Amino acid sequence: MAFTLFADTRAALARDSLHGLSVGDALGSQFFVPGRRPADLAAGRFPPSPWQWTDDTEMACSVVAELTEVGEIDRDRLALAFAHRCEPYRGYGPGAVTILRLIRTGTPWPVAAASAFDGQGSCGNGAAMRVGPLGAWFADSTRQAAAQARASAEVTHAHPEGIAGAVAVAVAAALATRARLDGDRPPPSRLLAAVAAALDPGEVHQGVRRAAGLLGRPLAVAVDALGNGSRVTAQDTVPFTLWAAATHLDDYPAAIRACVEAGGDVDTTAAIVGAVVAAHTGVGTPGGVPADWLAAREPLPDWVA
Ligand SMILES: [Mg+2]
Repeated sequence: MAFTLFADTRAALARDSLHGLSVGDALGSQFFVPGRRPADLAAGRFPPSPWQWTDDTEMACSVVAELTEVGEIDRDRLALAFAHRCEPYRGYGPGAVTILRLIRTGTPWPVAAASAFDGQGSCGNGAAMRVGPLGAWFADSTRQAAAQARASAEVTHAHPEGIAGAVAVAVAAALATRARLDGDRPPPSRLLAAVAAALDPGEVHQGVRRAAGLLGRPLAVAVDALGNGSRVTAQDTVPFTLWAAATHLDDYPAAIRACVEAGGDVDTTAAIVGAVVAAHTGVGTPGGVPADWLAAREPLPDWVA
């Protein structure tokens, strides 16, 4: 179905997804603090605020700021935005810090991204973690969401799996947003089948297909088969996050609790899942990002707020 989205509608949809991403990131990262247990969250006992967001949110804010200013991804601009806004204490991985330092000191992004991991390029989950709001922005075209996600990934992730992770998340967010506009919730199996259809063959593609076969199974079974991001690769992160988002697409708190319970790279799994689910539910709505969770999150940077 073809339809037109006006610029301020795109911005509002992407903003809801960014709130879902950043609240998930900020709350998820609290569970790396010793003594915090998933059972606390399940029982409604929350960490003290403010919940500080991490690299996932910082980079996602740059993606949204670029879309707001330019309307599409200009890779040269995005690479410089990532590089100049990087605050290393936000939990960036060592590979990302190196690539962003190279870009900041004048190395062209294609060279910096290709140099990572002995010339293989990064297949980390960093391109997937920041891209959900871009999918919401391009809710009117999964084809464009996929192409723009690829562009946004390439500036740091030269490995095909790192790029596929971003494409998968953006397409999922675009479909979740479109379903919100249509006023219906896609069955989880249809959502995952549509994401898989948008991907090139590879490990992320296989993982998303495996995730579809695990719908309705217990969380622990899904984590066992799909991973939970503990290896911080796209392959080990994205299939599980799309299983969780498809399963809990109309219940943001349940989606985030599933990520916390799953363990692993919790700030990033909760950021990805939060971005996709909030693109569907919105903020402050029934099943959406709770207003008190949003208030507990550290404010977003001035340059995107
Ligand atoms: Mg992080």
